[in-house]
Amino acid sequence: MKVLVLNAGSSSIKFQLFEIAGWSVIASGNLSRIGEADALFTFRWQDANGQAQQLDEQQPLPTHHDALERMVAQLHATGALTDLSELKAVGHRVVHGGEAFHQPTLIDDDVIAAIRQVIPLAPLHNPAHLDGILVARELFPGVSQVAVFDTAFHQTMPRTAYRYAIPDYLYREHQVRRYGFHGTSHAYVGQRAATMLGRSFDRTHLITLHLGNGASATAIRNGSSVDTSMGMTPLEGLVMGTRCGDIDPAVLLYLMQHLEMDHAQIDQLLNRHSGLLGLCGVNDMREIHRRIEQGDTKAELALGIFCQRLKKYIGAYTAVLGEVHALVFTGGIGENDAETRARTCAGLERLGIVLDETANRSHAPGERLISHADSPIKVLVIPTNEELEIARQTFEAVGARL
Ligand code: ADP
Repeated sequence: MKVLVLNAGSSSIKFQLFEIAGWSVIASGNLSRIGEADALFTFRWQDANGQAQQLDEQQPLPTHHDALERMVAQLHATGALTDLSELKAVGHRVVHGGEAFHQPTLIDDDVIAAIRQVIPLAPLHNPAHLDGILVARELFPGVSQVAVFDTAFHQTMPRTAYRYAIPDYLYREHQVRRYGFHGTSHAYVGQRAATMLGRSFDRTHLITLHLGNGASATAIRNGSSVDTSMGMTPLEGLVMGTRCGDIDPAVLLYLMQHLEMDHAQIDQLLNRHSGLLGLCGVNDMREIHRRIEQGDTKAELALGIFCQRLKKYIGAYTAVLGEVHALVFTGGIGENDAETRARTCAGLERLGIVLDETANRSHAPGERLISHADSPIKVLVIPTNEELEIARQTFEAVGARL
């Protein structure tokens, strides 16, 4: 039996097909530039001899329907999927579930309507996810579809963490509150961390740092999210590749008043032209390190601000939790960038965070402990695997129904 995971964006779809036994990936890939004349289709699979194969193809794929049809044809052609009856379920990543969804949910017409209702909160993401869901329903008739929400894990946050200090009616009538994102990743690495510590997740207190292009920190108490750095949208919190993270809201008023910027310009500025990119001209952390080595002071400052913000969140969440068993780094930067980890943890010894420099700098792959043997709070590097977590949650959601 197999589970297909789909992550549909406005012009792209990423996919992975899992074999439930052992959760191995049978095929994966992505379709990008959907709607353009030169859409790209990348498909990876293992042939009958177990050899890894990859297909790269360029062709017009006018709609999500065309794109997914191409993917299904390739799944059949390579034998990754011989018959639809092998497919236990399709799991869809959905960024925003508002307050309606606390867990992975079997998709029916009501669920589709509820995802549509929160489009104002996620205008870029949710319409694309709905496209993916509707096309998948057509292409996989009779196969259960499950929505796995980025916001769901954070629905356990207390009101004191999720409410903004603005008038009450804005929450009651307009759903203005903090929701948090990257929930699938925080939940996944949190569970892995508990396993590494030899604890049960529901007795484990963690600070998890997901540092990719988007970045967020989460405070986990007894296996549940109690605070997280992203807010009503993914713009709040840490410094990110192109997003500013926390900022005085009066800056926006100033930009409107003195630079006469409108809503669309401010949106672009804060979401696409800020963060590391805005500070030093690039958002790729590897390039930032290369520039720092060449003496680029803007790149140095960008990394400094990135780590300072992280440090503040670690301090804040240590205070929120009271007791912390481990600090977890994940995401492209968290998993690979020893320098960022070192700068972030420097000076936190009094908080109980003591890195082992050699372990931190070793390029050992996979899950690992990088704190000093005497560090009261363990520091872990755990590669995230959101697709696997979505596949598992999808399977559980379907299994629970049978
Ligand atoms: P996304 O949020 O798009 O999934 P990723 O989790 O892949 O992003 O993370 C992308 C970030 O990780 C980029 O800033 C990239 O430079 C950084 N990164 C990837 N590999 C390394 C590495 N070896 N060293 C430092 N940074 C890295």
